[in-house]
Amino acid sequence: MKKVAVVACGAYMDNGYGCPGEWRCLKAAAMGDGLFEEESSVLAFVKCTCPGRPTVPNIGMAIKALEMKPDAIHLSSCMVNAKPGCPYSTPEEMAKSIEDKTGIKVIMGTHDYK
Ligand code: SF4
Repeated sequence: MKKVAVVACGAYMDNGYGCPGEWRCLKAAAMGDGLFEEESSVLAFVKCTCPGRPTVPNIGMAIKALEMKPDAIHLSSCMVNAKPGCPYSTPEEMAKSIEDKTGIKVIMGTHDYK
């Protein structure tokens, strides 16, 4: 089983219907659905908050606290596919910042549930 971390858009989590109530990211991880290659254990779930400045340091702190490295970090589907998009950074910019900080591969998305 893979060990992963998920980073999600807090603006959507706070306001979007069904999130975090349905926890689709966690379901997809548990089932090995969507962007998860196999059933995966979510070690950390980091909530981005506008304007996103503390997000990458917070991911670093979460990994440090875990004392183990996730095999991959997933940006949530609501972060990657947001329309309108994040006004502060693109998902690609966020992914690069996370990879530069942690050395861990970032996967663009979590689930494709409707
Ligand atoms: S900075 Fe962007 S990705 Fe982060 S919570 Fe705000 S809108 Fe979402």
